[in-house]
Amino acid sequence: NEALKENEAKSVSSVTSSRRRSVLPQDMSKPVNKRLSNAVKSLDMVPKKGKFEDTNRPNKQFYQMIEEFRETLEVLPLSLSDTVEAHRICVCVRKRPLNNKEVTKNDIDVVSIPGNGTLLLHEPKQKVDLTKYLDNQVFHFDYSFDESSTNDLVYRFTAKPLVQTIFDGGMATCFAYGQTGSGKTHTMGGDFSGKSQNSAKGIYAMAAQDVFALLKQRRYSSLDLCPYVTFFEIYNSKVFDLLNKKAKLRVLEDEKQQVQVVGLQEMYVSCAEDVIKMIEMGSACRTSGQTSANANSSRSHAILQVILRRRNQVHGKFSLVDLAGNERGIDVRSSDRQTLVETAEINRSLLALKECIRSLGMDSHHIPFRMSKLTQVLRDSFIGENSRTCMIAMVSPGMSSCDSTVNTLRYADRVKELNGTLKMND
Ligand code: ADP
Ligand code: MG
Repeated sequence: NEALKENEAKSVSSVTSSRRRSVLPQDMSKPVNKRLSNAVKSLDMVPKKGKFEDTNRPNKQFYQMIEEFRETLEVLPLSLSDTVEAHRICVCVRKRPLNNKEVTKNDIDVVSIPGNGTLLLHEPKQKVDLTKYLDNQVFHFDYSFDESSTNDLVYRFTAKPLVQTIFDGGMATCFAYGQTGSGKTHTMGGDFSGKSQNSAKGIYAMAAQDVFALLKQRRYSSLDLCPYVTFFEIYNSKVFDLLNKKAKLRVLEDEKQQVQVVGLQEMYVSCAEDVIKMIEMGSACRTSGQTSANANSSRSHAILQVILRRRNQVHGKFSLVDLAGNERGIDVRSSDRQTLVETAEINRSLLALKECIRSLGMDSHHIPFRMSKLTQVLRDSFIGENSRTCMIAMVSPGMSSCDSTVNTLRYADRVKELNGTLKMND
């Protein structure tokens, strides 16, 4: 048995190291031959008595098993001094810390980020004979951010490398994907201190700051580029202008397949502070409304665009998207019609988005952008040689979010599939 274990351990490290350095514990006992490997059964089924024993929580056994597993992990956290690789399509994952509510409910943290783009999900399971075990699943992404990562760090590896693209006449797009409460708005719009959001500390604002820094550089100042901002929301296939009191807008496609959002306010901005004001204005507009504010904003996609114009023509465009929550398992019987329609619409647009990014990754000429309003409005993001995309998949760490987390990770994994080798040459 021991010999068998050793052999399997060897095969694990040989397979994983072909992609990147193995960070897995020696005794993970199933080959990781795909990015997503199932059921890496590890350690004993029955937890040993040890130092994690004396915690008094509902899922104590699982907690102990996970903590023991973590002891064996070699952790190499990402740091600000690590080099940033250029990807045409970059897919990352970010784990937020357990929040107060989860801590109070004694929820346990089932996600580990050893670094190097790896994420481990320790899914608690039970056999028919009621033996508890962990289904440890391994995922690999371009980067993985743990719960101690700041927005600054996430920005540095995700959206920052895309800023240059819009100066070179390209399209850049950054998506925040994940279930409601996983940290999309925190990442894009800025972190919350109490109820107020610090808009200067989100990816929206950081990208704007870098756009203005580049605009000042001599090599670009001769191009006569003028920066503008739009901020709008897509809810149930309808577009609302967040910089114009949520005016409802029509989307038209002309004979050249150019998609236009008719009447969308494009605001001229002269400095990063101007953009931050727009972010604050739009975010306030987003969450206000007759219906339960929070529920509403989590059911819509919010899109902030920084557009560079040259002699009135679009030179480059950076779209930053805070996607609607990818909630699953909505109870069909207990949900009202409105909720079911919303959910179907969100699922459709997220499916369309995945297909469009995959088409971009495969340099396909057929981009299925008409599948949803979201992808239609973002059509420019998926065409052209100079289009680059980054997706940040957000996960909640709690055991209670496990199903959603699996869902999010599988989605992000699919977006990345086939694209792993399409790295840019520079
Ligand atoms: P979403 O937009 O995905 O629904 P939010 O960004 O609103 O989620 O985050 C939900 C809650 O979790 C907020 O109170 C937010 O402040 C907190 N939160 C999210 N991500 C983090 C993080 N990385 N660190 C600390 N708190 C976070
Ligand atoms: Mg949100």
